[in-house]
Amino acid sequence: MEQSSPAPVVIPSSRNGAGSPLVSWKAGRWRSASKMCMHCGHAFRPWSKVLNGQVRVMQERLWNRQQFCSRSCSKRHSNPMISESVRRKVSASLKARHHRPSIQGGNGRALPRSQQALLAILGPSWIPEFVVPTRTPKGSGWPTHYKIDLANPETRLAIEIDGHCHNAIIRQQQDRRKTAFLAERGWCVLRITNKRALSLSITCTSPDILLISLMEFLSTTAI
Ligand SMILES: [Zn+2]
Repeated sequence: MEQSSPAPVVIPSSRNGAGSPLVSWKAGRWRSASKMCMHCGHAFRPWSKVLNGQVRVMQERLWNRQQFCSRSCSKRHSNPMISESVRRKVSASLKARHHRPSIQGGNGRALPRSQQALLAILGPSWIPEFVVPTRTPKGSGWPTHYKIDLANPETRLAIEIDGHCHNAIIRQQQDRRKTAFLAERGWCVLRITNKRALSLSITCTSPDILLISLMEFLSTTAI
């Protein structure tokens, strides 16, 4: 029996002129609807999706209110820093207050002073924040990589400079694990305090003197 199959609904296409006002939004007027994004200027159309063979479309009421093509355009548009004049004002007032971004150690930040000072003595064969991938499977409890404060990949010498936070017991355990990992892979790890690094950077005038002082001074790869 063919009775149950619904008659095909003929919907005016958006391409043959403005939708007839007689056609309701759901029945097809949405197909010819189009707007320009208030932020990026791109044309966008009502949200729609085919679900179980049926077309789902956003409500007309919401479409009438929509001004932006995407949530990110809406967010960017409402951010006052998007305006050049606002940016200039903010920048001028920060400068007037002598604002400067704080320099701290760690990921993506400027190198700590002690690290910079030693690097200046050691020379170009040394690399700060040298990444050693652990190549261990996810969930194995190992980080994806270790970063060495100062490393000479050729000689496999590593200098680790510890600040205050390295005193915490958990941090000390992590440090020992890192040292063991690097030692197993042929690295000699020299670990010194931040304070010691700064004083060595003042007293040592050449890379050799610095390295000898470090080696004499330290319990190194001993774990
Ligand atoms: Zn947009």
